[in-house]
Formats: sequence, C-alpha cells, structure tokens
Amino acid sequence: MANKKELELYLHIPFCVKKCAYCDFLSQPGDDKLIEDYISHLLREIEQEAEDKSDRVITTVFFGGGTPSILPAGKIDDLLEALRKHFTFAEDPEITLECNPGTLTKEKLAIYKNAGVNRLSMGVQSANDRELSMLGRIHVFADVIENYDAARNTGFKNIGMDLIFGLPQQRKDTFLQSVKKVVQFRPDHLSLYSLQIEEGTKFFALYGVDEETRRQGGLPMLLPTEEAERSMYHGAMEFLQSKGYERYEISNFCRKGFACRHNLGYWKRKDYLGLGLGAASLMGRKRFHKTNDLSSYLKGDFSVQEETALTRRDEMAEMMFLGLRLTEGVSFAEFHDAFGVSLKRTYEEPIARLTDQGLLIVNSERIYLSEKGFDLANQAMSEFIL
Ligand code: SF4
Repeated sequence: MANKKELELYLHIPFCVKKCAYCDFLSQPGDDKLIEDYISHLLREIEQEAEDKSDRVITTVFFGGGTPSILPAGKIDDLLEALRKHFTFAEDPEITLECNPGTLTKEKLAIYKNAGVNRLSMGVQSANDRELSMLGRIHVFADVIENYDAARNTGFKNIGMDLIFGLPQQRKDTFLQSVKKVVQFRPDHLSLYSLQIEEGTKFFALYGVDEETRRQGGLPMLLPTEEAERSMYHGAMEFLQSKGYERYEISNFCRKGFACRHNLGYWKRKDYLGLGLGAASLMGRKRFHKTNDLSSYLKGDFSVQEETALTRRDEMAEMMFLGLRLTEGVSFAEFHDAFGVSLKRTYEEPIARLTDQGLLIVNSERIYLSEKGFDLANQAMSEFIL
C-alpha cells in the first residue's frame, strides 16, 4: 500500500425530495424505481472505473448530491461494499455522507455507521424557520436538532453543518442568531456559504438581475449589499473563533482536528475520481466530468464528456488560487516539489502587487491571504491566472 498513489472518490446522488428555491445543483426528485435504476448503474460504473486503478489507494469517499440520505440506507452500504471490493482502501479512510434534515432516521443512521460512514455533513442552511421556508427547504430547525441528537447517539463523532448567509431581507443579527443556535450543539465543522443567485432557479426569477445591472453593481433591493454580507461573515467568524473554531478555508471552520480531509484534497489538488451523474474528476493533468444527462447515464453512458488537458501553467495557477483559499496558503517547498521552480520567481509581479495592496502576506515558508485579502479573495486570486 505504501507505494500506491492516493485517490479520493466522490459519488454523486442526484435526487432530492424537492428542488430548493435557490438550487442549481444537478438534482431532481426521484421515485423508488428511478433511484433503484440509478444505483444499479452506479454500481456498474464503480466496477468499470476500478479496473485500471489497482495502483491507487482510496483515502476519502464523499457521497454528495442532491441528497444522499434520501436513498434507502442499505444502498449506501451496497455502494461502500462495492467500493471496498473493487478498490484498495487506506486504513483510516474518511467517509462522508451529505444528509439533509428531514430525511434521516435512527435506523438509517445505524446502517450508515455500520457501513463505515464516519463523517456526516448536514445541510442545515438556517436555524430560522421563516428563512428555511423561503429557501424552499423541506425541514424546520426542530428536525435538525432531532437528527443531530440521533446521529450523536448513534456514535457519529464527526458532524459538520452548512449555513447560508446573504439571504433576501436577512440582517446581520438574524444570521448571527442562526450561527449561535447551531454552535450550541457543538458541531465539529461549520461551512458558511454566501447565497448565489443562479440562473434557472426560482430565486433567479425573484431576485436575479440582468447582465447590464449586474455589471453596474446593481442588486435587487431585498438582497443584502456586499458590505452587509461581509459584515455577516466577519461577525460569524469572530463568534466562531471565540468558541474555539478555527477558520482553515475561506468558508470553512472546524474544531481542532476536524478539517474535512476530502475537501482539503480538492484545494491541494490531490487526484479525485467522480462517479455518477455529472461527477467531476481531476486525474493527473486532466480535469473531466461524466454526462449530465440522466437518461444517457441510465443507458450506461459512463464515458468522459469534457476533458481539459491542463498545461503546466494551468496547474501552477490552480495550485495558487485553490491553495490561497486556505488560511495556511501555499508553501514554497510544495510548489517547488511540484514544479521544480521557485514560486516567488514565477509570480514575482503579482506577489509584489498584492503585498503592496496589503492583500497577501509572505513569510519564509509560504504565502497566504491577509484578512483584507480574504475580503477581496476573487481579485487576489485572479492575479495568478496569467
Ligand atoms: S437539498 Fe441541496 S441539492 Fe437538493 S434541491 Fe436543496 S439545495 Fe439542491
């Protein structure tokens, strides 16, 4: 196992009870037959994809969606059994299941635990029932408490929660109330995402803006301004830090030792293989994904749909703009190991510019964003796309 190269696996479950008002993920409602059919194809895809991966060791598995917890729990067991049969697993893999309050039961949780799932990521989104209803979620906050307690009682020792901020009419104090309410339960990990209004969603029809207004920085009246959003983020961060959570990535906070290993792999550009509808992969110098079309997938089309061959320059840029999302930033030694050249020399000009603007900090080992840099992260990261 020592000489096998590490690989992360992502399995996409594209089904939800109903579509949330803001969601543009690849997900849809699915009946029992459709779900059964999908899982049988996913099992075939696992077998097929594993054929040329005998030189790999699986360090993390992530069931994402959609709502993986919508499946009969035995299907998660079947999928993990197939993964273990066809791939070689590391001794202590992190196995995460995304789950949504309102779809969990004690029985399901016990099956996940026995199947080897050791991390749950709960889509809480808000602790305010009015906001949850506006988002089109199927749950109320009482469901979160019930499911979370059940998960702890089942023995889950690593549970994360996601929250969204920047909602229509949301104020800083209402968002902070949500943060405070969920922190009472001591989740091990918290992700704070700002609401994006995506085309094709119900929210876009309600709050979307045309391209011209967007270019001019216009926003529909009900949405918080960028400044208000930033204040929500800073308020939440200060509160979380006062409660012992550390920010390790721009949107992610954890108790010590509970960073998500799978997502760290994405930001550090480890190889990952996506399985299932539309799942994306990075394998060496290639980024690709599978078909987004469910009927094609259910006809057994597991072929690569869009493949981008990364140049060395692309890989360097990726290492910079993904790595700078992390509070630890990018290490000079790791950059040199990966590319055989000096990071400082390669990006001399952007580093000088961003340091002058107070967005970037350089020490003897690494470069990382300052607090101002995190506020202007997109601007800072775009400097590395040459
Ligand atoms: S539960 Fe998640 S994936 Fe499903 S519709 Fe809502 S936001 Fe989208």
